[in-house]
Amino acid sequence: MSDALHIVCPHCEAVNRIPAVRLGEAPKCGKCHHPLFTGQPVELNAAGFRKHITRNDIPVLVDFWAPWCGPCRMMAPQFVQATGQLEPRVRLAKVDTEAEQALSAQFGIRSIPTLALFRGGREIARQPGAMTSANIVQWTRANGG
Ligand SMILES: [Zn+2]
Repeated sequence: MSDALHIVCPHCEAVNRIPAVRLGEAPKCGKCHHPLFTGQPVELNAAGFRKHITRNDIPVLVDFWAPWCGPCRMMAPQFVQATGQLEPRVRLAKVDTEAEQALSAQFGIRSIPTLALFRGGREIARQPGAMTSANIVQWTRANGG
């Protein structure tokens, strides 16, 4: 097992190398000096999505949503709450399926909200439907996040 983890900065997308033991000590980006974990999900476009799921050594939990979707908006504060509980062991991110239609087509997102968990660039679990923060945390941990 490696003792350093690659963490993609949510602000400038620089790939940081953080010793695993220091992950919980509010690490900052070596390039832009902002905190690597903010308690907020990262909003991703297609390019940012690819970088985050392929370059992070921690799992990435993605909420596929859309602004017009009522259940998505209801789940949004629950997802933020889950972010506070799952960071820094998991990166939480959001993809607006309306703005990123090619990306949601590529992943075959048929209903929203859909949560998908990625590790090492590969999808390892998926769950459609709105969830509470407790459900999100439990589901993520049950699937290795
Ligand atoms: Zn940065």
